[in-house]
Formats: sequence, structure tokens, C-alpha cells
Amino acid sequence: MLEVKDLVKKYGDKTAIDGLSFHIDSGEVVGLLGLNGAGKSTTMNCITGYIAPTKGTVTVDGHDILKEPAKAKSVIGYLPEVFSFYSDMKVSEYLDFVCDLKGFPRQQKLRKEHIDRICAQTGIRDLKGRLIRNLSKGYRQRVGFAQALINDPKVLILDEPTVGLDPSQIIEIRQLIRESGKESTVIVSSHILTEIQAICSRIIVIHGGRIAWDGPTEQLLLAGTGRKEITIRGKGDAEAAKAVLAELSCIEQITPLPEQEEGAFDFAVTGAVGRDIREEVFCAFSKAGMPLLQMSSREASLENMFLHLTGRDEPVSGGDEPADAAAKQEGGER
Ligand code: ATP
Repeated sequence: MLEVKDLVKKYGDKTAIDGLSFHIDSGEVVGLLGLNGAGKSTTMNCITGYIAPTKGTVTVDGHDILKEPAKAKSVIGYLPEVFSFYSDMKVSEYLDFVCDLKGFPRQQKLRKEHIDRICAQTGIRDLKGRLIRNLSKGYRQRVGFAQALINDPKVLILDEPTVGLDPSQIIEIRQLIRESGKESTVIVSSHILTEIQAICSRIIVIHGGRIAWDGPTEQLLLAGTGRKEITIRGKGDAEAAKAVLAELSCIEQITPLPEQEEGAFDFAVTGAVGRDIREEVFCAFSKAGMPLLQMSSREASLENMFLHLTGRDEPVSGGDEPADAAAKQEGGER
């Protein structure tokens, strides 16, 4: 349904996306996940033909977006991240206008029935007579959703569709996305892991304009939980302790933690996928004559996995905002 091949987009000297390739089949609901500035919007803008790539091709339902833009665009519905409405229009007037833009037949009855169906689908049937400027942000987003659905798209592209919404609005929009996934191939971008996890069956992680991961959501979750993380406190010199840890091949990351006890060191240590590192760490310190005073273990979270994939691999205690979490955790070591 959608083929993206070797896509590159440069803005002057800045390379926003750098050789992206992926294929999305009919009926897939795919999440584009990445930190702010990763290249998600640029990718979506290239897919929808909103901007031209510097290199590479996008084929939608067999039509090249640059060579056959009208045919390709006729099967795409797009809700951009920043969406401008004609806010002095009533909802029904606006959707009628979008029908004109998308070349929907002008027959009054047919068009009214179509708009009624889309309004029912997006939960705005009772708002058709309301001015857009008087709607809440959540309902305005539904109107944005309605305009994206007006051509019954085979491919629906949603750029950060829940940004700025309150929790109940987020739940409603997620439900809309799930419903839309029954009719269309859906690509939804977000920098929020739980968002993507809740909606998508496949996740493509973009980092620095490249694909850092592409696979089923459960696989990413499994990979995330396959990583054990321990925090340790031991007696002795922190540098010597770090050297002991650095010798262990089962360890992927060592992060010094602030000193809690005089004469003791604290570290957070992440093991390789599928490795339980507790025993090896314990034995290594015992052999080095540095007694461990404390050890606690936890499963590495999806958030941590994301940070690992994006090269900002630091243990995070909670939250679903990787950018913020990463910013807070700057300064870790590998
Ligand atoms: P966000 O989640 O913040 O929207 P994003 O993942 O969608 O981020 P993009 O908006 O695609 O990322 O931006 C990718 C990179 O390209 C960023 O470094 C951004 O600053 C840069 N960029 C985007 N649009 C332009 C532009 N029109 N001119 C110059 N640089 C741009």
C-alpha cells in the first residue's frame, strides 16, 4: 500500500531524513516514533507530497507521489501536526469546502449523506452547525480528523494527533484512530511511547533521520523487557568499581549514581538483552574484594528501550516523555 524508498530530505545543509526505506501493507496501523526533531513530520510531509524529497521515492497504492500526484493524493487522508482551519466557517460548511477540494461529486443529497456519515464516524454530528472557532481543541481535532477522512482514504496519515488534548480527549481520539484502522492503512506519529504502544501494531523508530527500529510492537516490548537493570551499592573506590564492571561482557551500560554513603559507590547497570547480570556482578565484586552492600533489580522499561535505540540510553524511573526524560538524564556513560 505504501512504499518509501531511500528517502532523503535536506533543508539547506541540514539533513532532516537520511535514506529512509519501509513498506507498509494494507490494514497496518504503524507508529512513527521519535524524539522531537527526529524527522517524523518531514517523513509524513514527503509521503503526502506536501514537500518534495531531495532523493528517493514514495509510492502510494501503486502511484508515485511526484509522478502521479493527483492519483496518489486521492487515496491519502492527512491530518498535519499544525492544522489551520477556516475558523469562521461552520463545521458543515468547512467539510463541504473540503469535499470541493477533494473533487467529491456536487450532488446535494449525496454530499450531505457523505458529510453526515463522516461526522457520525468522528463524533461531531451534533456540531455541524457550530462555528469552528467556538469548538474546544478536542472537537477541532475531530473536525481535522473528519477532513482527513472525507475521501475515504486508503492511507490515513496523522501527525501527532493527540498533542495538546486532555486525557479524555486523548482516549476519544485514540478510539477514532483504532476505528479508522479497520478501514484504512494508518500511520501515526508521536514522541510518546505509550501513545504508539496503545494504538499501533508496528513501530518504526526514527532517530536522526534514520530508522533505528522497525518491527511489531510486541517485539519492541519484549526487547525492552528482555533487558535487566540493576542498581548496586558497594564498598570501595568508584573508579575501581567501574573498572570491575567494565570487564563484564554481559553489561551494556554503566551509569554512576550520586554517592549516598561515605566510602561507598553507587551504579545503575544495564545488562544485554536476555541476560540476568546479578550473579556475574556479585561474583566480580567478590573476586575484587569489594563487598556489595545493596543490589536491586528491575526490568528495563519500554521507555529505557526507546532511549537505548535512540542512543540516549539512560535508566529512567517513569513518565512517557522520552525527550524530557532524556534531557533530564543527560550525561550518562556507556
Ligand atoms: P517534532 O516531534 O518536534 O515535530 P519531528 O520528528 O517531526 O519533530 P521534523 O519536524 O521532521 O522532526 O524535523 C526534522 C529536522 O529537520 C529538525 O532538525 C528540524 O529542525 C529540521 N527542519 C524541519 N523543517 C525544517 C525547515 N523547513 N527548514 C529547516 N529545517 C527544518
